[in-house]
Amino acid sequence: MQLDIMVYLLKYIKKVGGNMQRGSFQWMKSLNKSIILNKIRSAGSISRAQIAKETQLTPPTVGTIVKELLEQDLIKESQLGISQGGRKPTMLVLNTSGFHIIGIDAGPSDVQFIVSDLSGKIVDQIKKTVNVGIEEDDFLQMLVTGVKHLISQNKSLKFIGIGVAMHGVVDATQGIAVFAPNLNLRNMDIKSELESTFDMDVKVENDAKALALGEAWFQNQTANTSMIAINVGRGIGAGLVIDGKLYSGEHGIAGEIGHMTIDIHGERCTCGNDGCLQTVASGPAIAEKMVKMIEQGNSTILSEYNNTDLTAEKVHHGAIEGDKLSIDILAEAGTYLGIALTNLIHVCNPSTIILGGGVSKAGKFILKPIRKTIQSRAISEQAQQTPVYVSKLGDYGSSLGAVALILSELFEPAID
Ligand SMILES: [Zn+2]
Repeated sequence: MQLDIMVYLLKYIKKVGGNMQRGSFQWMKSLNKSIILNKIRSAGSISRAQIAKETQLTPPTVGTIVKELLEQDLIKESQLGISQGGRKPTMLVLNTSGFHIIGIDAGPSDVQFIVSDLSGKIVDQIKKTVNVGIEEDDFLQMLVTGVKHLISQNKSLKFIGIGVAMHGVVDATQGIAVFAPNLNLRNMDIKSELESTFDMDVKVENDAKALALGEAWFQNQTANTSMIAINVGRGIGAGLVIDGKLYSGEHGIAGEIGHMTIDIHGERCTCGNDGCLQTVASGPAIAEKMVKMIEQGNSTILSEYNNTDLTAEKVHHGAIEGDKLSIDILAEAGTYLGIALTNLIHVCNPSTIILGGGVSKAGKFILKPIRKTIQSRAISEQAQQTPVYVSKLGDYGSSLGAVALILSELFEPAID
């Protein structure tokens, strides 16, 4: 174990040299295998002696590695700890503003770019609108332009990596957006494009999966947690975190719950099947339901809008205004989500379920029917009590999730 660390150190100290960005990421990640960095992160504040005690490394080894980490600006010395009888020890903490990460939430209608420090604090951001009918090369170029913009606005910062939360089917291993159905874009090699332009490590993942990882990383903090995050927007996707790890399945489609069949006699879905969850609980489904109800002569304050103007957001506003039909339509979407979530509980038995995406903003109207459905349908009393709540990361859920893609790689608890 100790020899390993020295080998890693020697190998990567050489690598750091002139190439700060990629070199330092590799250096940090390799050091990470020595678990010291992760020990400091998870403890919040810890002394050299305590690290030695908890990792069973010798104090000189800990001292050497800590010195390197201090020189790299990754950690810093903090206020004095509690004395165990002798001199008060100096505590070590993560230097959260020593390095920054760019997180990208690449949705079907707009793309959000953020700059975050190592603790998830957002220090800058920009948003770009996706043009209708955009093609693959232009979409990639848009990502490049956005990152360039943020880097030029933050010249004094040291960037360590770029995380991308992309909608649709993603090959996370290769970093390729395989299929983005809403834009009809295929096989975009996002990782290669960004890595070759910026010389930084790039991770690409499906947006719902990134949201789940972000929640586990920034909110839960418990390494072995099993939780599910659901992104309900134009489409519906779930990210499954099993024992602290994102679960992708054999071909990366684990969590595609938007296409879970809810009603075999239901409406035709974009995927070709009938009655998918997406046809009854997504943003467009909520808007379409309202259109249909207006056509059938039901009364609502939204009757002035026509088919093209009506959005789920307007239905949400209607509900806030007290419009009965808007409230009923959101409640029905909530009931369907509750059925889908009950199915998921029976498959994965998560400790928590978190809702993100545009539709989750109507949490006040959909959470109650979701919880009620789970309580009436789940198989055991404990399963019926599975907590369901709206993500506290708000509009930044997926972009912070993208940041977590890099952080989880960087701080991955080592020991292999
Ligand atoms: Zn479908």
